[in-house]
Amino acid sequence: MSTIPKIVILGAGYGGILTAQRLQKELNYNEADVTLVNRHDYHYFTTHLHMPAAGTDSIENTRVPISKLIDEFKIDLVKSNVQEIRIADKKVVLQDGTLSYDYLVIALGGEPESFGIPGLGEYAMPIRSINSVRLIRQHIEYQFALYKTDESRTDRLNFVVGGAGFSGIEFVAELADRVPELCKAYDVDPNLVNVYNVEAAPTALPGFDPELVEYAMDVLRKKGVQFKIGVAIKECTPDGVILATGEEIKAATVVWTGGIRGNRLIEAAGFETARGRVKIDDYLRAPEHDNVFIIGDNSLMFNPEGRPYPPTAQIAMQQGVTCAQNVVASIRGKELKKFVFSNKGTVASLGKGEAIASAFGKKYKGWVAAQLKKAVDMRYLFTIGGIPLVLKKGRFL
Ligand code: FAD
Ligand code: NAD
Repeated sequence: MSTIPKIVILGAGYGGILTAQRLQKELNYNEADVTLVNRHDYHYFTTHLHMPAAGTDSIENTRVPISKLIDEFKIDLVKSNVQEIRIADKKVVLQDGTLSYDYLVIALGGEPESFGIPGLGEYAMPIRSINSVRLIRQHIEYQFALYKTDESRTDRLNFVVGGAGFSGIEFVAELADRVPELCKAYDVDPNLVNVYNVEAAPTALPGFDPELVEYAMDVLRKKGVQFKIGVAIKECTPDGVILATGEEIKAATVVWTGGIRGNRLIEAAGFETARGRVKIDDYLRAPEHDNVFIIGDNSLMFNPEGRPYPPTAQIAMQQGVTCAQNVVASIRGKELKKFVFSNKGTVASLGKGEAIASAFGKKYKGWVAAQLKKAVDMRYLFTIGGIPLVLKKGRFL
């Protein structure tokens, strides 16, 4: 039996893949056993999910087999669902077995946060995974088809997106781009379609640059999006949503982009969390467990001003690299490296040819920002899969 340390990585999203790739680069031959566990045999680009959700791009452009990203002679890939993390036993329970570890990297990503809003779990659809966006896309198309069988049901043509954070804004932009195509395909008068974006905060994209927010809202209004800002969704029903003002919006489609929380498995493992996120140390380790690293949407870190970093792919990737270095350093008994986030800015798509960006200390909008968004996407593809992945999955137009 092998006596070399066992490293188990849970989740092959942004944080998990970067950790795995970096480990396979840094570890010497036979220095450790590395196992990567993920519930699918593919890695998906969460940052791209709003497009297949609306039907403006394909599922295939949004995922890649994990076997194409790692060297399976160096890393064992286990396709399974993690069911329980047993910290005291140094074991992970999967749906079809258990794994022991010496070092654990938890990179299981976030889950939709429902804030206890009644009906949300039953009647609203989150944008979270390939499976969830397949459902949204099919559901939207089905509503157009159903409407043609009973034209009195105009609520079939009402679409509510709950939350105007970055996910909500990016999705609603794609949906607005898709509506004309769907109207044509299903012989529907575009004037009958309503796309609502409801936001509880006093502004869309709370906390983002106000000039860019205004620009984004202008672009989206011109595409036909109707904003309801400063009013929360209070309840979701089989017929639509009820707002805090008491107003009801009848809609057969409600997409929830109202926020995320950390994975519930982490609370169940006994860690103290804030909305499912664990406050980790400067080296990305869980409190009191020097062999457990937590990264990405499951981790909570603070910027020098004491505010939590928002959970993004950008920080998850950077943490993945440092995490791998620190796991290797731990094995070798060397000094660990502090994680320092390098903020490259924010770029948000507003549909075809439109975006907003705040990067390099400057603001960008329109076509230039859209090119920046493509550059960010390409850079990611290049980072994890080199030129072959850029050529296969990149969007050049
Ligand atoms: P994830 O990337 O979510 O990966 C988690 C992995 O764990 C997944 O592969 C999942 O299948 C797997 N997993 C989960 N549970 C289990 C289980 N029980 N068993 C086995 N496997 C499991 N951030 C940006 O920086 N820029 C953007 O442009 C951007 N756009 C976004 C657009 C949308 C629509 C959304 C929803 C998010 C966006 N984000 C963006 C945020 C970003 O996607 C997340 O912060 C990032 O994915 C977090 O990475 P992660 O590694 O923590 O988790
Ligand atoms: P979020 O938490 O950033 O935004 C959710 C929005 O929903 C908030 O504005 C909130 O006020 C609103 N909301 C909450 N409850 C509501 C209610 N009851 N009714 C109406 N509105 C309600 O969540 P997100 O947009 O999914 O983003 C998650 C993370 O992913 C963030 O860190 C974000 O920065 C990141 N992200 C980044 C990009 C990008 O950089 N392009 C794109 C998508 C997501």
